[in-house]
Amino acid sequence: MSTVATRLAAAVAALGRRDVDVLMVSVGSDLPYLTGYRAMPLERLTMLVVPAGGEPVLVLPELEAPRVARDPSFRLRAWGETEDPIRIVADLVGDARRIAVGDQTWSTFLLSLQERLPAARFESAVPIMSELRSRKDDEEIETLRAAGAAVDGVVARLAGTRFGGKEERHLAREITEMVLDSGHESVEFAIVASGPNGASPHHEAGARVMTPGDAVVVDFGGRRDGYCSDTTRMFVVGEPEPEFLRAYDVLRRAQEAAVRAVAPGVTAASIDRTARDLITSAGYGEWFIHRTGHGIGRDAHEDPYIVEGNDTVLESSMAFSIEPGIYLPGHWGMRIEDIVVVTEGGVERLNRSSRHLRFVD
Ligand code: ZN
Ligand code: ZN
Ligand code: ZN
Repeated sequence: MSTVATRLAAAVAALGRRDVDVLMVSVGSDLPYLTGYRAMPLERLTMLVVPAGGEPVLVLPELEAPRVARDPSFRLRAWGETEDPIRIVADLVGDARRIAVGDQTWSTFLLSLQERLPAARFESAVPIMSELRSRKDDEEIETLRAAGAAVDGVVARLAGTRFGGKEERHLAREITEMVLDSGHESVEFAIVASGPNGASPHHEAGARVMTPGDAVVVDFGGRRDGYCSDTTRMFVVGEPEPEFLRAYDVLRRAQEAAVRAVAPGVTAASIDRTARDLITSAGYGEWFIHRTGHGIGRDAHEDPYIVEGNDTVLESSMAFSIEPGIYLPGHWGMRIEDIVVVTEGGVERLNRSSRHLRFVD
């Protein structure tokens, strides 16, 4: 069976278990996951319609059809410029009652479908798609592993790069080049947050010039063969303040403990607690202002989220980040981030570059 056939069959089985009649998936990552085809986010409707007991149909604009790699496990229904694609989808749905809709379906399409199918009940397809996507198959894990190794190589190159005297955004541009050189097809973000800017976790690299004494948060990632990378390492220009070094030691131990706590059968929340308890008992708890991690795959952020309140039980082959941070407003910020995969016996790290501070010029 092709990967596409296997995944569509798994989707149909999930519909059956949940008593849902139809799954509808539009733009975003669910569609390439199920069909191998990534739709352009256009005002023209693209919709995969998967009935619980019938043939999956990909409804898409005729001019996009040549981009689809055909697979016998779904049919194409290409619509011409003067056709009404909402009518086509509504006819495929027929009198089905429960419809699960992908979370990245534009409201303009969903509102029209709701109007056209007044008797249907629409619900989120997230529970179904996240059940399928959060456990990666061997090929996906291998792809994530390669993406992780590629950005580890960029970290190694950065250690020999000059930071001092350079604007954050210029270093960000260099990182972008290096990530593309490493075999990624795209760079989604390159955070370079120096000195006090580091206290803003998603700081956008700007015109600040890095100077001796600065700690620099470097967090970057992109897509390689359709799967995301994401790693954070800390660099220091010259000598940091002693308080920074004390906090960094706490952070490194917290990140390490959280990674080691990962195993099948423990909850996502318990991993967050492992990191948070260590940081809190060292007195930095109020400065750890975000969750410990996020799932990763075709999307940079997806299930499972490593956060208090998430009682999802971790299973072998789930992939996510472990990225605790400490952010002291007006002073500095710090974060360490690795992607990990749950294995039968525990955990595999996909980022293996040293987590020690890197002192740069
Ligand atoms: Zn983030
Ligand atoms: Zn991340
Ligand atoms: Zn990151």
